[in-house]
Amino acid sequence: MSYAYRVESNGRIELKDFDPGADAGLKRDEGEKRTAHLIEELIELQELLYAARRQSVLIVLQGRDTSGKDGTIRVVSGPLNSQGCEVASFQVPTDVELSHDFLWRVHTHTPAVGHIRIFNRSHYEDVLVVRVHNLASEEVWRARFQHINNFEQLLADSSTIILKFYLHISKEEQEKRLIKREQDATKFWKLSVGDWKERERWNDYAVAYEDVLNRCSAKHAPWFIVPADKKWFRNLAVAEALRDALLPYKESWLQKLEEMGRRELKAIEEYRQTHQ
Ligand code: AMP
Ligand code: MG
Repeated sequence: MSYAYRVESNGRIELKDFDPGADAGLKRDEGEKRTAHLIEELIELQELLYAARRQSVLIVLQGRDTSGKDGTIRVVSGPLNSQGCEVASFQVPTDVELSHDFLWRVHTHTPAVGHIRIFNRSHYEDVLVVRVHNLASEEVWRARFQHINNFEQLLADSSTIILKFYLHISKEEQEKRLIKREQDATKFWKLSVGDWKERERWNDYAVAYEDVLNRCSAKHAPWFIVPADKKWFRNLAVAEALRDALLPYKESWLQKLEEMGRRELKAIEEYRQTHQ
C-alpha cells in the first residue's frame, strides 16, 4: 500500500476528495520508525545511483505556504550524501530570468547523471502563482502545460527519474502553523504577510493545483498527493514513494558496478604483471 496517492495521466482528481489529515491508521511512533528504515534504504540506493551514473533523479516539491517543503527536504534528503544531492529553490523571478522563457532558469538546475536534485518550488509556479495573480495572460499560462509536459518528457528521455509531490494541507492546519510562527522568535524569519494574502486565494489555488495535477501527471513524471497535516506522515509518504521509484533500478546499478569492478580488477592484474 502506498501512503501517497499517485495521480493517473489525464486524471480527474479534485482535492476535496483527499484528506490532508490521512495517516493510514498509523501512530506517530510507528510512522517515524518506518521512515527511518526507508531512509536507510535511500542512503544505500543513493550510493548506487551515484556510483553507477546511469540515471538522475528530479524531485519536485510543491505546496501552499507552510505545507512543509523545507521540513520534507530536511528530514528525507538531509541524511543523504550531499555530494550527490542538491536543492534548488525557486523564488520570484529576477528581471534577467523574466527576460527569458519560463523554463530557462529551471533547466540549468536539472540533475546531472548520478545526482538527486530537489526543486523547492519549480516551473509549476508559472502555472500556479502566475495564474492566480494574473502575472501572465491566460493564453500564455495555458500553453505552459504542454511546454512543461514536453520539458519533462525530454528529461525522462535523458534518463531522469522524475517524482513530483503536492504537499496537501488543510486550511485549518495552515492557520495553526502561521500563528505558531508568530509565537516563536526562532521562526520569525519565516514570517511573511504575503502568506496571509495568499491564503485569501485558497480556492483559486485549489483550482490551479487541480489543473496541474490532472494535466501534468505522466507515467514517467507522476504527481503524488501527499497528506501533509501530520508532518511525520508527510515524511513517510515522500520517503516511501522515492524508495519505490528507485528500487526497480537497484539490480541494474549493482550489475553495472560489478562489471566496472571486474574490468578494473583485470586492469590492475595486467598492470602488476607488466610492472614486476
Ligand atoms: P518561499 O518559497 O517562501 O521562499 O517564497 C518564494 C516565493 O516566490 C513564493 O511566493 C512563490 O510563489 C514565488 N515564486 C516562485 N516562482 C515564481 C514565479 N515563476 N513567478 C512568480 N512568483 C514566483
Ligand atoms: Mg514562504
